[in-house]
Amino acid sequence: MAIDKRAAQHPDLAGPSMFSRDPQDLAEAADDFGHVVQRRPQAVLKAASVADIADLVRWAASRGLKVAARGQGHSTYGRAAVDGGIVIEMKAINTIHYVQPDHMVVDAGATWSTVLDAALAYGLTPPVLPNYLELSVGGTLAVGGIGGTTFRHGMQTDNVLALNVVTGDGRELTCSEDVNPDLFDAVRAGLGQCGIITRVTLRLMRAPERVRRFHLLYSDLRSLTEDQRTALADGRFDYLQGAVLPDGAGAWQYQLEGVVFYDGAAVPDDKAVLAGLSDQRSAADISDVSYSEDVRAFARLENLLRSNGQWFSPHPWLLTFLLGSCAEQIASDILNGLTNEDVGPFGRITFYPLLTGALRTPLLRLPDESIVFPFNLVRIPTSSGAVEAEQLVARNRMLYEHIRDAGGILYPVSALPMSRDDWRSHFGPKWSFLDGAKRRYDPLDAFAPGYELF
Ligand SMILES: Cc1cc2nc3c(=O)[nH]c(=O)nc-3n(C[C@H](O)[C@H](O)[C@H](O)COP(=O)(O)OP(=O)(O)OC[C@H]3O[C@@H](n4cnc5c(N)ncnc54)[C@H](O)[C@@H]3O)c2cc1C
Repeated sequence: MAIDKRAAQHPDLAGPSMFSRDPQDLAEAADDFGHVVQRRPQAVLKAASVADIADLVRWAASRGLKVAARGQGHSTYGRAAVDGGIVIEMKAINTIHYVQPDHMVVDAGATWSTVLDAALAYGLTPPVLPNYLELSVGGTLAVGGIGGTTFRHGMQTDNVLALNVVTGDGRELTCSEDVNPDLFDAVRAGLGQCGIITRVTLRLMRAPERVRRFHLLYSDLRSLTEDQRTALADGRFDYLQGAVLPDGAGAWQYQLEGVVFYDGAAVPDDKAVLAGLSDQRSAADISDVSYSEDVRAFARLENLLRSNGQWFSPHPWLLTFLLGSCAEQIASDILNGLTNEDVGPFGRITFYPLLTGALRTPLLRLPDESIVFPFNLVRIPTSSGAVEAEQLVARNRMLYEHIRDAGGILYPVSALPMSRDDWRSHFGPKWSFLDGAKRRYDPLDAFAPGYELF
């Protein structure tokens, strides 16, 4: 007697993965770090092998089910969730396969902190790390991955040499610049639309032993921006970011964050590093720490927010890139309409310049200028209310339209509703490439429905 596959409640898995309909697993997979959007799957695959992921994808395809990979669930608007479909939890697909002097091979569910530990054991590091290291490699590569060294080394997706990807027909394909290059280009910063990244070859470089960290304060946005542009042009820092911070009394503080890498006894000369900058020198905070401590600095904020409960509040973030030629004007217009409460006491508005020359990932969209400014509302509200969160999402949408109309571009790690037409215009000249790749690699339109792209 023929078996009706469509009636099967479980995929046939050869490997050790667990297929769960446990209400607690479903509730966890329905939510994310944003705590704004909830979408409940019908089941969660706690993946323990790539073969099981491929089996699950084939099974889901035979039943017309949507599938979303979930790395660490740090999306802010339900992008790793799927209503009524299957979430593939990638956490256990986290093996570090090997480390070589110039590259390493890791599974996509590994976090950047695990990757870094393995690389540092050989005195090596990925050239670009995100500010928060507990994100998964796959989840970050699905969006791009930006860090304080991006102005020099590009996005994290620019530092990937090869990928293994499970596509919509349940095959695991290898891709790189030379092998299946269209898949390689469609998956990096491709918002999970064309496949599930399972394995990654990452470029490595020698890690510095120590860093000299400079946190410089300014009384206004103009002087911050001027010094950021100077430092970007002369390359005095190896890491450059900056932010507008709530000062706790209703006003803003303007901060440049620069880091100089060094080894052994070659301690950088502070006077030389700061020459020509116009910060409030008596307020400068200069510290000297190991490279490993510096790149993990976000962990202190995470601990604080976990202890005061704000880690678990809604986080309706808005991340964008402004045109370098008018970044200061647009940022200052927007800042005039914001109060400290818009980001919360521990939130910030990230603002610093980037050279775009090192950014080559085709699907990473940027304003078309040689310098752009990330402008990110990293909101950490004190209120955990859903109504307040919805209001902030609505504000995000208005600000996004304002920024877009002024030539800015969204970094898709943002909490706001986006229509298919919005996405089409976001990808602009790259839309037809992504659309074609989607038809080739996910013709049943199963993957990552949380972005609502197709
Ligand atoms: C505290 C914090 C700090 C952050 N700092 C930075 C930063 O410095 N730089 C930066 O660029 N971003 C930063 N982000 C944003 C972050 O990179 C993205 O939200 C990223 O998608 C989260 O990774 P994740 O593993 O939690 O992914 P998830 O939230 O689990 O997934 C995100 C998306 O990627 C897809 N996805 C996940 N795994 C895979 C896979 N293996 N293959 C294909 N698709 C997959 C999902 O389906 C989903 O669409 C930060 C976020 C937070 C919360």
